[in-house]
Amino acid sequence: MGESSVFHRDFNAVLPMVVAVDGNYLIDDSGRRYLDACGGAAVSCLGHDHPKVREAIKAQVDRLAFVHTGSFTNAPAEELAAHLVACAPEGTGAGRVMFLGSGSEAMEAALKLARQYCIEKGEPERQQIIARKPSYHGNTLGALATGGHAGRRAPFAPLLIEVNHIDAPYPYRLQGQDESEADFAERMALLLDAEIGRLGPETVMAFVAEPVVGASLGTQPAPKGYWPRVREICDRHGVLLIADEVMSGMGRTGTTYALEQEGIAADLTTMAKGLGAGYQPIAAVLAAQKVVDVIKAGSGKLWNGHTYMSHAIATAGALAVQQVIEEENLLDNVVRRGAQLEAALRDTFAQHANVGDMRGRGLFWTVELVADRKSKAPFDSSSGIAMNIGSAAKARGVMTYPSPGCIDGVNGDHVLLAPSYTSTEAEIYDIVETLAAAVQ
Ligand code: PLP
Repeated sequence: MGESSVFHRDFNAVLPMVVAVDGNYLIDDSGRRYLDACGGAAVSCLGHDHPKVREAIKAQVDRLAFVHTGSFTNAPAEELAAHLVACAPEGTGAGRVMFLGSGSEAMEAALKLARQYCIEKGEPERQQIIARKPSYHGNTLGALATGGHAGRRAPFAPLLIEVNHIDAPYPYRLQGQDESEADFAERMALLLDAEIGRLGPETVMAFVAEPVVGASLGTQPAPKGYWPRVREICDRHGVLLIADEVMSGMGRTGTTYALEQEGIAADLTTMAKGLGAGYQPIAAVLAAQKVVDVIKAGSGKLWNGHTYMSHAIATAGALAVQQVIEEENLLDNVVRRGAQLEAALRDTFAQHANVGDMRGRGLFWTVELVADRKSKAPFDSSSGIAMNIGSAAKARGVMTYPSPGCIDGVNGDHVLLAPSYTSTEAEIYDIVETLAAAVQ
């Protein structure tokens, strides 16, 4: 093949061409097999060839592909929305779901819904957004502005709306040596209270955060008690809580929504990757009843829209994905294989000189690399350590999701693992053994 006409991340990279799939493996045109231990970016949670999902998509192609949401609805979109509302965390109530094409679009839509809610409620002065750093909420301008990822924001800084960022809980580096988990959770949650106070509570529209931080920090759950306290602070100040479950949602951490495990519900929830599992490009925003009621009693109209919302083939594919997860009890497998993955990682890397931290939940785990374990000093930002490890694992036939440290060198490089929910015991051990060989 000559020079590619497709925009790839690296213009000079010559990428293998994937021509076939086999369960959790990708196969390139030279016949090489790659065990997919990251699902791209925590996307392919059912491997690459689930027969039920394939059949559902084919059947929908023969039935109906697209109708415009201004004039019609369609059965798979209705059924999928009902399912997502039915399994939403307690407290969501009779919500509604908007279907979109990507996680970034879902974040934009959530921000716009939050703004509409404030206006329709008679509080138009609420326009401030508070988010966290590190975080990643997408690549479109609003989502990029919301994300607390210094490297990704930098070139576009003049184009970004103003968003206020507080620290995300990151125990490895931010928890005091003698500080209990409960005290740490409280201290981090109070950062939100203080930021709302600084801005003026009547001006704050929403707090945006990932229940388990994904790409920017690497599968970082919050300390116990953080989320209930955040919910209380948002309620006390009339601030909407937007949970970005684009990566952490749809079973990745062992429950459909990661926030379920914290015992609270968000007002707006974004989801994407595990929703369609890569079989179709699809994302969604779930609005809790509280939001729906205000808009219904106000204009009764959605002040946002995209041509491909509620696409019938995309929603049919995602519906089949969610049904497979339920019918095959795959959340149990996420918990079981997740425990196995954690144990194998801890056994393998507990004493490693360059592994500073291992963190995660369910089948969502990260190894953070450091130049010096004692001081926790990260590798120099030019070291390329995580990317080199990712390349070494790929050369050995296992795909991981490596990231350079992202906040001005404060947090280290990391390698993220997000294997399929259908992973076998042997595949989990293969992933960890290969990573060990790649890290050395
Ligand atoms: N939000 C989170 C938490 C993500 O991890 C991502 C993508 O990695 C996004 C939003 C953006 O999703 P997309 O790449 O589909 O636009």
